[in-house]
Amino acid sequence: MASAESPGPTPFEVSELDDSRVGGPITVSARIADVSVKKISIQVAVFKCGKCGRLAEEVQTTEQLKFPLNCSPTWGGCGAKRREARFKLLEKESVYAERQRVMLADEKHEDTQVQAFLRGQAAGSFPIGTQATFKGRLKNRAGKMARGELPYSLEVSEVTGAKMPEQVVVYPKRVDPQVIYNIIVERQRRGEPTNYKVIVDEARKIGLAEEDVRAMLSKLLKEGKLEGQEKGERRLKEEKKDGSDEDGRVK
Ligand SMILES: [Zn+2]
Repeated sequence: MASAESPGPTPFEVSELDDSRVGGPITVSARIADVSVKKISIQVAVFKCGKCGRLAEEVQTTEQLKFPLNCSPTWGGCGAKRREARFKLLEKESVYAERQRVMLADEKHEDTQVQAFLRGQAAGSFPIGTQATFKGRLKNRAGKMARGELPYSLEVSEVTGAKMPEQVVVYPKRVDPQVIYNIIVERQRRGEPTNYKVIVDEARKIGLAEEDVRAMLSKLLKEGKLEGQEKGERRLKEEKKDGSDEDGRVK
């Protein structure tokens, strides 16, 4: 029996990537030199009508959360317009897409880098310093690039032979509000509480101060990424023990 790793051609180094590799499938052996925050976006949002309790799905195409126009009779809804329906987002029932941008470099030197996108389970799984084989598709990349960055983007479909660094996780230099959103969404998906105290504790584990968390939460609320968006200044919703919704009705 051969090793578990798929045999395939000898992987390329980052510095070997050029125009002739664009388009086709490619395997690159590299080290993760930097990581961005993992982004979680809702692909299909599931809402509950506050009037009749029916569930509605809405495909999301932009960052701003898109609500259904009305509780449509076509899916058996009560016909209420968005305002009266007061749709409530059901985080756990919604469908998510995860994605993370990382920078890949050759093992020995860092002067040449290429950006790559990890999706699904791979997103957020590999700390800076991980050495691995990245299988995927090389695309052209437009726009501004930092010095030493190649004008390509690697869409990673598979990561194999990952060797993580000995030292524990190295975090990216900058932290954006998405971190807090990720913490909340992941906890909601696991059915764990997401009250303010819990979020502050979780954020502290990754080196964030309480005031940063507070600032990020209010930014997320303003952007409508968290519940409570229509009520402006409202803080993160307190946990309800009985599983009732906002109107006190039990599911
Ligand atoms: Zn309805």
